[in-house]
Amino acid sequence: MNQVVIASKNKHKLEEIKAILKDFPLTIKSMDEVGLANLEIIEDGETFEENSMKKAVEVMKETGAIAIADDSGLEVDAIHNQPGVYSARFSGEGATDEKNNEKLLNMLKDVPMEKRDARFVSVISVAFPDGKKISVRGECKGMIGFEKKGESGFGYDPLFIVPEYDKTFAELGSVVKNKISHRAHALKKLEIALEELF
Ligand code: IMP
Repeated sequence: MNQVVIASKNKHKLEEIKAILKDFPLTIKSMDEVGLANLEIIEDGETFEENSMKKAVEVMKETGAIAIADDSGLEVDAIHNQPGVYSARFSGEGATDEKNNEKLLNMLKDVPMEKRDARFVSVISVAFPDGKKISVRGECKGMIGFEKKGESGFGYDPLFIVPEYDKTFAELGSVVKNKISHRAHALKKLEIALEELF
């Protein structure tokens, strides 16, 4: 059976990817299980595709196994798609979710609601030992609120309003979020792409 390494140290993402892979003829391994818990991969690409593929290719080369990696972030129209690939480190050295949200609110303080369109993006890439590569992209459209609302989730969730619900991701909670999120859409596409292969 083919071995697949999931190149994410985030437990939550690991579980989500594992869940969709369970019916494929694949043995799933975490970075821990293949002795790569300490592997640092510098995310220096300009796109989510470049960063996720770089991680997948490096882990594939280290292990000789199929590797799956993801990269995600927030794009806001009014500020030329920032923070984009810099979402995690938007507020600079020592960035935290709190500081990143504060910086975003500041940059958008004079932008009216109708111009606060944004999207979360998730790109999942797969690198195969024979050189084959797959990338799938999922997006979730929304608006950036004027203040944080809700307690659940992480990152920019308290600012990201989903128009269909008129609630932020942080107010909606994980059950709803996991059905409509950028990552959910990317995982669905990944499942379809893998079905064609296996
Ligand atoms: P990464 O894909 O783990 O590198 O995540 C990049 C950054 O994008 C995170 O640190 C968050 O700031 C942001 N981000 C990605 N996905 C989400 C999400 O579902 N909710 C809130 N923030 C997110």
